[in-house]
Amino acid sequence: MTEQFEAAYLKLYRSEELKARVAEAYRRLERCNICARECSVNRRESAKGATCRTGERAVVSSHAPHFGEEAPLVGRGGSGTIFFSWCNLRCQFCQNYEISQLGHGQEVEPENLAAMMLRLQAMGCHNINFVSPSHVVPHILAGLLIATGAGLSLPLVYNTGGYDSLETLQLLDGIVDIYMPDMKYADEATARRYSKVKDYPTVNQAAVKEMHRQVGDLILDERGIALRGLLVRHLVLPKELAGTGEIVRFLAEEISPHTYLNVMDQYRACYKANDLPPLDRRITRQEYDEAVQMAQAAGLTRLDDRELRLIWLFR
Ligand code: SF4
Repeated sequence: MTEQFEAAYLKLYRSEELKARVAEAYRRLERCNICARECSVNRRESAKGATCRTGERAVVSSHAPHFGEEAPLVGRGGSGTIFFSWCNLRCQFCQNYEISQLGHGQEVEPENLAAMMLRLQAMGCHNINFVSPSHVVPHILAGLLIATGAGLSLPLVYNTGGYDSLETLQLLDGIVDIYMPDMKYADEATARRYSKVKDYPTVNQAAVKEMHRQVGDLILDERGIALRGLLVRHLVLPKELAGTGEIVRFLAEEISPHTYLNVMDQYRACYKANDLPPLDRRITRQEYDEAVQMAQAAGLTRLDDRELRLIWLFR
C-alpha cells in the first residue's frame, strides 16, 4: 500500500481542480455556509455575525509535531498539528477554551499556513493535522495550494468537532485523506445545552457518513501509520450524557463494524463545567469501562489501544 500511496490532493493539484476548489470555497465565504451553522454573513468583509468569529484571515494558536494523538497518526515522527483558534461550537466544558472560545492566536495569511505545513513536513511528521478546521476550510485550501506547489506531499487529517456542512465536505472530496471527527452527542437537547448548537446528532451523523463514503475504513501502512480513512473520537461524559450506546450502534450498523474508534476517558471539568453538574466531575472507571463494553457489544472491532501509543513513544 505504501509504495502506491499518494496523498489525495496531489492529483487534484495536477489537474488544477485544487485551484478551482479554493475559488469555490472563498465564494462561499461571502455568504458563509462553510459549516452547518449557515450564518450567511460576508466574512470577506468582517467577522461580525459569524458564530466562529473568524473573518477573511484564519487565526492559528500553534503548529508543532504532536505525540499525544492516536497511535496511527503519531508513529515516531509525530502528527503535524496546526491548531486553529475560534470554533463553530460552544462546548461549555472545552479543555482548550482559551483557543476555541477566547481566540488566543495570530492571524495568518495563506502563505503563512503553507510555510507551517512545509515546516512540519521537514520536521519528519507523518501527516498534517488540521485541528478545528470546520470554519476555516477556504483558508486551509488556499494554504494547501501554495504548499503543494512547494513540495508538500503528506496526507491531511481533518480533525473536527463534527458539526460540518455536507457541501463543504464535498468540496474536500479527493483532498482529505484522513477524517477524524468527534461524535460528541446522540441527543439533540443535550448538544444544545452543552455546546449551544442545534441538530448536532443529525448533522454529525450525516457528516460521518459522507466522510466514510469518501475515504472508507482506516488503512495503515506496514509500520502502523494511517494513510487514509475514518478515525472517530468519542469523549465519554459523566452520567452517559454523550449517548455512547446510541453512537456506537450507529457506527457499527450504519458506518462499518471496522470503524477505528477512540473511546476517550480524559474528560475533566474545564471552562464553565463546574457550574453544570454532572459535568463538574471526571468520569468514573466504571463509566469508562461500560462505554468500552457498549462499543464491543455493538460489534466494533477496532478500538484505539492506548498501550500501543505508549510503546510507539518509548521504543
Ligand atoms: S463557518 Fe460556520 S460559524 Fe463560521 S460564519 Fe460560517 S457558517 Fe457561521
